[in-house]
Amino acid sequence: MDKLSCKEVTKEYPGGITALRNVNLEVKKGDIVVVMGPSGSGKTTLINILGLLDVPTKGSVYLDGREINRLNEREKCEIMNSTFGFIFQFFYLIPELTVLENVMLPLWIKEKSYRRIKNYYEEAEKLLGDFNLLKRKDAYPSHLSGGEMQKVAICRSLICNPEIIFADEPTGSIDRESSEMFFNFVQLLNKKKGMTFFIGTHNEKFLQFATKVVYLNDGEIEKIKE
Ligand code: ADP
Ligand code: MG
Repeated sequence: MDKLSCKEVTKEYPGGITALRNVNLEVKKGDIVVVMGPSGSGKTTLINILGLLDVPTKGSVYLDGREINRLNEREKCEIMNSTFGFIFQFFYLIPELTVLENVMLPLWIKEKSYRRIKNYYEEAEKLLGDFNLLKRKDAYPSHLSGGEMQKVAICRSLICNPEIIFADEPTGSIDRESSEMFFNFVQLLNKKKGMTFFIGTHNEKFLQFATKVVYLNDGEIEKIKE
């Protein structure tokens, strides 16, 4: 991925709610884009539309010049699985799966057979090791702390080797120490692998290393700081 962008994106909900109004934005490879704005300003809606989890009412999303928001579900799924990684505020781990199984979950979309998925055990364990979680690989999410769940969610977002990671309020429900870990993770991956990040947050600490800050207000871009 060299560039992800959206043009004149509007999202309306029934009842006259406009979550996004005429949003134009460009994300370039290696950017750390931070979207700030009060609750209800449209951060989540913007993340979900750029990440193909939601569709705009008007406007388009482009990946390297190709319009991607009108592709069919199968084609979107392929892009999301191969190019995008997602980290959510409440992690969305599957309670019935172990830590290791949660990390490996996206591989069930990428690879069609268990025989191939098995080849990724080492990779999944290495990721957990990087986050000091290997000893918890057989634990279930309900036995983890918030910070540990966040780390599992990070490992899961990385297992398919994405080019851009979308994170919605990633430090919204973890303690300060885990937040520090998250800041380090973003900066390290950005520096080492040129990983691109698109982060919606209230946390001003992200501003210290953002390459672009987008201020949303009432569904509109108020200003962009580069
Ligand atoms: P933020 O993430 O900045 O808090 P959101 O993108 O979640 O903002 O929401 C933007 C606006 O869209 C809010 O007014 C919210 O109430 C509204 N909204 C979000 N999702 C829906 C939905 N499914 N149905 C109706 N309104 C929605
Ligand atoms: Mg939100």
